[in-house]
Amino acid sequence: MEKVVIIGTGCAGLTAAIYAGRASFEPLVLEGREPGGQLSTTTLVENFPGFVDGIDGPMLIMNMKSQAQRFGARFQYSTVTAFEPKGDHVRLQLDGAEWIDTRTLIVASGASARWLGLPGEREMVGHGLTSCATCDGAFYRNVPVAVVGGGDSACEEASFLTRFASKVHLIHRRDRLRASKIVGDRALANPKVTPVWNSAITEYLADDQNEVRAVKLKDLVTGAESELEVKCVFVAIGHTPNTAPFRGKLDMDEEGYLIQKHGTHTNIPGVFAAGDVADRTYRQAITASGQGCAAALDAERYLVNFE
Ligand code: NAP
Repeated sequence: MEKVVIIGTGCAGLTAAIYAGRASFEPLVLEGREPGGQLSTTTLVENFPGFVDGIDGPMLIMNMKSQAQRFGARFQYSTVTAFEPKGDHVRLQLDGAEWIDTRTLIVASGASARWLGLPGEREMVGHGLTSCATCDGAFYRNVPVAVVGGGDSACEEASFLTRFASKVHLIHRRDRLRASKIVGDRALANPKVTPVWNSAITEYLADDQNEVRAVKLKDLVTGAESELEVKCVFVAIGHTPNTAPFRGKLDMDEEGYLIQKHGTHTNIPGVFAAGDVADRTYRQAITASGQGCAAALDAERYLVNFE
């Protein structure tokens, strides 16, 4: 029987691993399909406290992992495929095969940004293609950029990016925003924001450094094609929380984000949630780390019952 199993190796999972390791629980940390989480796909992180000149996302993740290993955390590449609460412990199925038992479980499996699904898209991430304006907006000063989407996230990102960019093209597939009125109106009222209605990006065009220089657009009403020069594309078409194995067992909202009770507790005793898997609001590396810390402390307190 494991004492602490942690699902996910983004900021939340790794911080939980550091705390649970340092408390001598030798946590087992499961790395799934996106090891390192969203930070592993960004470049410079300038807003994680303690790094005056910033730190590369993958380096920050590697440091956290080494720190957790120093305290006895064990890492294993496995994807959780099923979950069974058993009263005083829980069972997890890994990769559709073996089952493991654990007294406590910290779910820090994150949320995956949705992408457009264009050919070569994954390779462009970090080269003028990103899903996080807060992380990457400041790199694109006095140049035109594009935001894709018509929801609250897209509109908030568009408004935020006007602090840096010379122009923000808000590319939306319909002629009406999905965003709440106040958020949408604020974005459209900004003179730097230009909506591009009824349009879809069909191709990212790269320069000879393999950085985005423009996008190919299709007008979804007329079918007309055009090119739009932008130095960065911010895709803001939503996130999908990685909670499929817990459906019907852990309480989640209508979009699948886990619901925390007091602190990081879920509805199942001994199961805790931390980071983007339970956070549709802040979604920052530092807030995820904070929750990972809290979940490890909550797990530690819960384990006292079994001493
Ligand atoms: P969202 O509300 O689901 O909006 C996603 C947007 O992306 C929609 O406009 C959708 O178009 C578009 N889209 C989806 N798939 C697409 C595709 N394949 N290609 C092109 N466009 C696509 O997502 P969100 O903006 O991330 O917001 C998620 C939740 O968080 C919402 O409940 C939102 O209210 C909330 N939120 C609130 C705030 C706030 O209150 N300040 C800030 C951020 C987020 P259609 O409109 O055509 O479907």
